Amino acid sequence: LLTMVLIGTGGSEGIPVHGCNCPVCTEARLYKFLKRSTSSMLITNYGTTITIDMSLETSSFVEDLYVDAVLVTHWHHDHIAGLYKFRWGGNPIDLFAPKGNADEEIIRYPGSMRVHFVKPLETIHVGDFTITPFKLNHTVETMGYYIKLGHNSIAIIYDTKGLPSETEEFLKKNHVRIAFIDATYGPGTVSEKHNNIDEAVEIGMSIKAEKIVLIHISHNNLPYSKLVKYVNRRWNNVLVSHDGMVINLV
Ligand SMILES: [Zn+2]
Ligand SMILES: [Zn+2]
Ligand SMILES: [Zn+2]
Repeated sequence: LLTMVLIGTGGSEGIPVHGCNCPVCTEARLYKFLKRSTSSMLITNYGTTITIDMSLETSSFVEDLYVDAVLVTHWHHDHIAGLYKFRWGGNPIDLFAPKGNADEEIIRYPGSMRVHFVKPLETIHVGDFTITPFKLNHTVETMGYYIKLGHNSIAIIYDTKGLPSETEEFLKKNHVRIAFIDATYGPGTVSEKHNNIDEAVEIGMSIKAEKIVLIHISHNNLPYSKLVKYVNRRWNNVLVSHDGMVINLV
């Protein structure tokens, strides 16, 4: 059994944003289950446990759990803030990350973290998992991760605008059962740094992912109720994430 827990599914400001009265934030203040903390997730087969990024909320979530490795996608604060606390734990933990814009404080004082810099398409092994980093299009050097365990395969595609061609090629050649894809913005919003929802789904389709889960959803997207309608009317293999969502692959 492979279990994925979406601990945080928001953009860098989370939802609701303090002082913001937009429809997304207003809805999330009323319906508290729609709150989104900053992005990271946990993947476990109940033998090997890894996290993708380490938000503040994640560092508390995994406190008593043995984490074998943290895979950092990039060094933006919303994805690594929890490392400041997490590094002082008692167990040695492998930290895999791109070198670009690496956080000076974490590199100088890694505590129990053993830092390894990854390169695109150079496969690494963590316990039972085979993991291949791939390049994404963001403001700083950013990696996605292709994770394989037996016949199951996951693509983690946080913080990107589209895919670099070598990444698209790589993912097309490899079977993807489930892809978690940056869908920061709502339909029609165009940014250089992040996908909108349609661009996110397009990526998932182009790599022939069996299932697509939209993540990194900001308050610049549709309110949850409208977002779910928008997605369900168009696609039947696309899910809108929410904090605490659990997905199992057997
Ligand atoms: Zn982010
Ligand atoms: Zn808002
Ligand atoms: Zn970012």
